[in-house]
Amino acid sequence: MSILFYSNDRDSDSLEKQFREQLAEHSFTSWSEIENETGTASDNHDSKRSRIDYVIAWNPPPNLFEGLHNLKAIFSMGAGVDHLLDHPGLPMDVPLARLEDAGMGAKMAEYVLLGTLMAQRTMVQYRTAQNRQHWDLTQPDVHARDVEVGIMGLGAMGHSCATRLLQNHYNVRAWTARPKEVESIRCFHGQEQLTAFLKNLSVLVCLLPLTDDTRKIINADLLATLPDHAFLINAARGAHLDQSALLQALDNNTLAGALLDVTDPEPLPAEHPLWSHEKVTLTPHVAAPTQENETIDQIVANIRRMDKGEPLRGLVNRQSGY
Ligand code: NDP
Repeated sequence: MSILFYSNDRDSDSLEKQFREQLAEHSFTSWSEIENETGTASDNHDSKRSRIDYVIAWNPPPNLFEGLHNLKAIFSMGAGVDHLLDHPGLPMDVPLARLEDAGMGAKMAEYVLLGTLMAQRTMVQYRTAQNRQHWDLTQPDVHARDVEVGIMGLGAMGHSCATRLLQNHYNVRAWTARPKEVESIRCFHGQEQLTAFLKNLSVLVCLLPLTDDTRKIINADLLATLPDHAFLINAARGAHLDQSALLQALDNNTLAGALLDVTDPEPLPAEHPLWSHEKVTLTPHVAAPTQENETIDQIVANIRRMDKGEPLRGLVNRQSGY
């Protein structure tokens, strides 16, 4: 089988080298070899492109899928697949598999715990006081057992975060598409239970996939449902959040603060108010970086399943978009 690897991430050379070593029985084609293939790629059935069987990709360029007439499967090098589903050339009838946890859940749990601790220990308020050289002794002494954390999305990421929060004595609720019963977690689902899920939350965590149903889901109406002392953690995708609505809520003191790992766009333009807002902490999409070994192991195992005609793990449902 012939594999095309494409990633625009900083670790891409090392990843490609390891895939080539581990899948030595397959032949690999570099993007640089076919990027400028002469002729109209989509018409040529005898090109290098037309011999590609599998694509392993992260953030592919617009012309990546052109002329891949023999393509049998696409493997995303991320848990999220919006970078592929939004791709104008993505073939509709080719199976698409994503990473399932692949070591990212543990990292995400650290990040969400960090944000939850920031909220519980009122770090935004102390930062604001520090900026004014004010010795603020007015903040409440809140215990973890009195903090309600609501996680939107209880998939691989959400589940790992919920477990870590429960271990740290926080109360956890989750909101999902379909009904769920999970020990120690108050589960809500669907649009009709969203308001009940949000009521009296101290911390709201977004770990949803980006789909038509979840784009800009954290908007002015949703933020207005949260208590004024609530804190937002978005580690999913920037487009889940209406950033103007967030700024308005922070400036009106109807939201305490936010920890954002993702923005729209990434990075934000230099003059964007989120960069300098004292109630906002920004990180550059590093909450749960790709874990090289687990990523390679998972995709290699999936390619071997494909070779043997076995069902793929992490198969994306094109209808729901995740
Ligand atoms: P999963 O597909 O495993 O889980 C998705 C969860 O979201 C499921 O619980 C699903 O509900 C729920 N969901 C989907 N659509 C809706 C909806 N319309 N209403 C309510 N709930 C919904 O995803 P992962 O946990 O693996 O990843 C989640 C996201 O995290 C990724 O898509 C990516 O955007 C982001 N991510 C960010 C990283 C970072 O470093 N910042 C790293 C890794 C991931 P149900 O269970 O009912 O299907």
